[in-house]
Amino acid sequence: MINALTVDLEDWYHICSAEGYSDQSRWDAYESRILKNTAKILKLLRTYNVRATFFVLGYIAFREPDLIKTIKNEGHEIATHGFCHRRVFEMTEKEFEEDVIKSIEVISLITKERILGFRAPEWSIRKQTPWALKTLRKLGILYDSSMVPLTRMGDRDFPIYPCKLDTEFGEIWELPLSTTRLFWENIPFSGGLPLRIVPYFYVISKIKKINQEGHPAIVYIHPWEFDKEKPKIEIPLTRRFMHYFNIKATPIKVEGLLKHFRFAPIRDVLGFSG
Ligand SMILES: [Zn+2]
Repeated sequence: MINALTVDLEDWYHICSAEGYSDQSRWDAYESRILKNTAKILKLLRTYNVRATFFVLGYIAFREPDLIKTIKNEGHEIATHGFCHRRVFEMTEKEFEEDVIKSIEVISLITKERILGFRAPEWSIRKQTPWALKTLRKLGILYDSSMVPLTRMGDRDFPIYPCKLDTEFGEIWELPLSTTRLFWENIPFSGGLPLRIVPYFYVISKIKKINQEGHPAIVYIHPWEFDKEKPKIEIPLTRRFMHYFNIKATPIKVEGLLKHFRFAPIRDVLGFSG
């Protein structure tokens, strides 16, 4: 079984709904740490000869086109993470469409390739954004990876495994956040804060279980999780926890996973590359 390895390509200050950081007009003033942090990820992937899907924030592509070319030239898939890093449920249908169009235009101008995939900032497709998948499919996107089957973040009724969903513009694949069942709730473990918190052996056993059931696991990382020296900032405690807690664990755990499992970009997992 081949699992999907994904990178949300954004910088340390791309924090949703945190004062001073979700405002795009202030981003240019912050120190850019994206090049050196992405270099660490690319080096790790080269070491284990693994290709991944990079969900590139349009803003990053606009500022660092050579970085996107480098990632593509190393064989990775370039997909989109939107342009402004706004959560889908905070936008209108029209704003969402414009944001995705802008990201596709900026990114595909660099890659000269069609973009197949989308991931929303903070997995923010919700029941109250029923237009999101339709809009993505209308714009030529063939897969989305933005839904979380959790009570608190997404919706418990969302799919737990990759599946095709219908829209009025045709079918679109959904690759939801990988979760495991614990009593009455689905628990995330395969990226971000959950990967940093849960024991490594637990992550291994849960990916094995998903694979045994015939599905790929979706692992996700961010460049800022490879940056122990990233600037310390004043944001609400829950956000700080999400962005800073046990940051040193990510590179170690991800390297372990690369040794333990087979990974590929989502386009290959879904068979779009042939
Ligand atoms: Zn993001």
